[in-house]
Amino acid sequence: MNNLYDVNNIFAKILRSEVPCEKILENEHALAISDINPQAPIHKLIIPKNPYINFYDFIKNASIEEHESFWKLVNDVIEHFKVETEGFRIITNSGKNGNQDVPHFHIHLLGGENLGKMIG
Ligand code: AMP
Repeated sequence: MNNLYDVNNIFAKILRSEVPCEKILENEHALAISDINPQAPIHKLIIPKNPYINFYDFIKNASIEEHESFWKLVNDVIEHFKVETEGFRIITNSGKNGNQDVPHFHIHLLGGENLGKMIG
C-alpha cells in the first residue's frame, strides 16, 4: 500500500462495509456505487477494491488483473445503464488541482442527459 494512503477515507470505509452504500455491481477487484450527491441523472462511481490514492497511483501500481477487472466494471456499468449509445462522461479528479475530495481512486460515470461542455 502507498504509505500516503488514508485508510480512513470514506471509500475505504465503504469497502470495509463500515459505511453503507447503494451498490450497483461489483467484481473481484472493483465496486460500482451511486454517488451520494449526484450531479446528473446517472452519476455512478467505480472504485478499485485495493488502496490506490488516485489515477496515477492506480495506473502505475495496479496489477494487470486489477486493471482488467476495473475497466471491465466501468464498461459493465455503462451497459447496465444503457448509456453506450446516447453517451456519457467519465471524470477522475486527482489531488489538489483536480479538487479530489476522496483520496481513494475512483471514476465518475455521468449520463442520462446532455452534460454540456466539459468546463465552465
Ligand atoms: P472527488 O471529488 O472526485 O473525490 O469525488 C468524491 C465523490 O464522492 C463526490 O461526488 C461525493 O458526492 C461522493 N461521495 C462522498 N461520500 C460518499 C458516500 N458515502 N457514498 C457515495 N458517494 C459519496
